[in-house]
Amino acid sequence: MTSNPATSEMDANESELAANAADQIDELESLRAIFSSDSEPVTVSWNGVSPVVGRVSVRIQLGDQTEWSLTDDGNKMSHRIRSLPPVSLLFALPSSYPSHAPPSLAVTADWLSHNQRHLLTNHLVSIASNSPNCPILFELVCFIQSESAQFLGLVDTESNTISLDKDCNDSNTIESILEHDRKHRDQLFANETITCGICLDSKLGANSFRFSTCGHAYCKVCLVDYFTIHITEKNVLQVTCPSSSCKKEPNAASRNASVSSVQPLPPHTLTALLPAPLIEKYESLLKMHDLLQKPNLTYCPRQTCQAPTLKDPDEEKLCICPECSYAFCFFCNRTWHGYAAYCQIRHLSVVAAEYAAADESKRSVMEIKYGKKLLEKAIRELEEDKLNSAWMKDNAQACPNCRVMVQRSEGCCHMTCMTCGTHFCFLCGQHLNKSNPYQHYNTRGSSCYGKLFEGAVIRNDAAFGEEGFGGDNEPVADGGIRNGPNVGEEAVAVGNEVDDGIEFQDFLGVDDFVVEEQGFVMPARWRRTQ
Ligand SMILES: [Zn+2]
Ligand SMILES: [Zn+2]
Ligand SMILES: [Zn+2]
Ligand SMILES: [Zn+2]
Ligand SMILES: [Zn+2]
Ligand SMILES: [Zn+2]
Repeated sequence: MTSNPATSEMDANESELAANAADQIDELESLRAIFSSDSEPVTVSWNGVSPVVGRVSVRIQLGDQTEWSLTDDGNKMSHRIRSLPPVSLLFALPSSYPSHAPPSLAVTADWLSHNQRHLLTNHLVSIASNSPNCPILFELVCFIQSESAQFLGLVDTESNTISLDKDCNDSNTIESILEHDRKHRDQLFANETITCGICLDSKLGANSFRFSTCGHAYCKVCLVDYFTIHITEKNVLQVTCPSSSCKKEPNAASRNASVSSVQPLPPHTLTALLPAPLIEKYESLLKMHDLLQKPNLTYCPRQTCQAPTLKDPDEEKLCICPECSYAFCFFCNRTWHGYAAYCQIRHLSVVAAEYAAADESKRSVMEIKYGKKLLEKAIRELEEDKLNSAWMKDNAQACPNCRVMVQRSEGCCHMTCMTCGTHFCFLCGQHLNKSNPYQHYNTRGSSCYGKLFEGAVIRNDAAFGEEGFGGDNEPVADGGIRNGPNVGEEAVAVGNEVDDGIEFQDFLGVDDFVVEEQGFVMPARWRRTQ
């Protein structure tokens, strides 16, 4: 400690010593009252013989700005911090203080260099020497609090940066400052009130958890439930902040790089929240997940081995198990089939659909695997199949008796199977009564009620006469056939329900209709006779 040797206790008489003792007690009590905290108490000790020694932890006030960037020379980066660790002021009070002698002083802080501590101590000593005869500790503490950051050149208020002396800008010091800052933020957060984004209740920060990366906060009860569910169900990718803004889809750039922007939380960040067994489970799930992310990793296909096997990146397909030396194909897992042969395809249509939907990089992998020609042929066949089945869906129906597909060319929905003679409905495939097939379309409540002509294609040819479907027809009541002014070669009758055969005939202006028993009006040429 540094003291002023020019004065000594010898100079004070007995009554002055008594007054000094009283002054010291007052000063130390007020220091305690103002600067003591649970985590950093003001400590004072006196062994009955002079001097009284003590220590005050002082927080350096950084100014109005809430966040500062701390430059980290070693890692060529900066960290956002809100506070610096405290500086300790050590003092020794001789019995002649304050009447005749100043206190002895020293400053300690791991994150200040020797030079900075020396500068600050000397400055405090000179303040004390310039104010003889009065208690000075309070003023010294205030100087450290509000002026030392500027005095030592630690802060640049223009750029909001904090720079450590080059002698102590090392990773250990930076880490201890960051650790202190985390604790300090936690203390502040514990007294805040937050609204939990899951249960929407107001909760005290002490009962909540804030994600350091995004700042979102939720109550602990909700988060424990949330993480327990996702870890139990092995949804590793869901072990993130639950906020929708933190679960955004990867952007286009990162999608191209096939990297998701949402990364699972590191297990150590959840230790304050979750029980140890759950954290362990999460750690092993994460390891598994990371392994699976490796594009060249597979497992030995031998049932008795199953060792993780990394494919040599220079090999297209060949894998050699590191445990049992089994040589197998990376893609089809079968015993090594040589470079010339392609992998066998078990379900060609499945692979073809996968190939059709694949992006360029996946396609090139599949081409190595199965051969480009085979895949392209499979895609052509897949497309033909699709067209066929779409056409069949629109134009054919299976006979409910013999399952032969019966094609509808044009006309109504009453079908007669050419193979077995069964009458059935084109729309629903239902068996129809041979003696009264139209009942199906004429009975209220039937699934095909009023749909006899549903989807029928009506050709406007000579048989319909000059005033046929090409004409400019008036609209009819709901459910009737509508025919717009500019209908060309084909008109489609939809949802027709005709109560009055005469009106229907008049409307169509066509002569060659027959009136069926059930009251339906049909052009003679529509009747199926097959
Ligand atoms: Zn909640
Ligand atoms: Zn978030
Ligand atoms: Zn093996
Ligand atoms: Zn293969
Ligand atoms: Zn049939
Ligand atoms: Zn039907």
